[in-house]
Amino acid sequence: MADGGSARLVLLGPPGSGKGTQAALLSEGLGVPAISTGDMLREAVAEGSELGRRVESVMAAGELVGDELMAELVRERLAKEDAAEGFLLDGYPRTASQVKTLDEILEAGSVSLDHVLFVDAPADVLVERVLARRRADDTEKVIRERLRIYSEKTQPLVESYRSRGLLRDIPGNQTIAEVAASIDAVLSGQTQVGATS
Ligand code: AMP
Repeated sequence: MADGGSARLVLLGPPGSGKGTQAALLSEGLGVPAISTGDMLREAVAEGSELGRRVESVMAAGELVGDELMAELVRERLAKEDAAEGFLLDGYPRTASQVKTLDEILEAGSVSLDHVLFVDAPADVLVERVLARRRADDTEKVIRERLRIYSEKTQPLVESYRSRGLLRDIPGNQTIAEVAASIDAVLSGQTQVGATS
């Protein structure tokens, strides 16, 4: 597994793309924490904390939690010591406003992102995978809503990161090991990364 010092990463992709699985694998290989905002929120709901009570119904409907609340959560998490040398963000940012917040957080720490790994797969594969996974918020209606919101709010971030020269396209319609190998190739610099203009 490449380390190469490239350890500030965002995993971007639709629900079911497999980015969570890859984040966990990468975290182990790179020795940096995988920070899944979805997991953090699910934990808060399970604990019944104030945050959990605030986000429960939004999550159950497949909608996005508000940008300000997310900003607070991510700012606090990235300030923890284990994220000082790097992190893998899985599920954040998801909106243009969240991109701005993340830029501000990183700038304040005089660090920057190394890569935005965009894991994508065809829509029918995504629905099939998410249905097979069946989390509490994974009814078919909710899945479709999550995919709709992804297209509307999150998909535009792909081109925004591409224009900044940060985006790396990772085909997600392969086995877990193949996706991991594609990511590894990017991180070790074996893959020509996207042109900036
Ligand atoms: P995930 O496990 O990443 O699919 O997230 C599960 C749910 O948590 C989402 O459907 C949202 O309701 C909420 N969530 C996770 N990350 C974010 C985020 N960055 N912005 C807004 N809501 C989020």
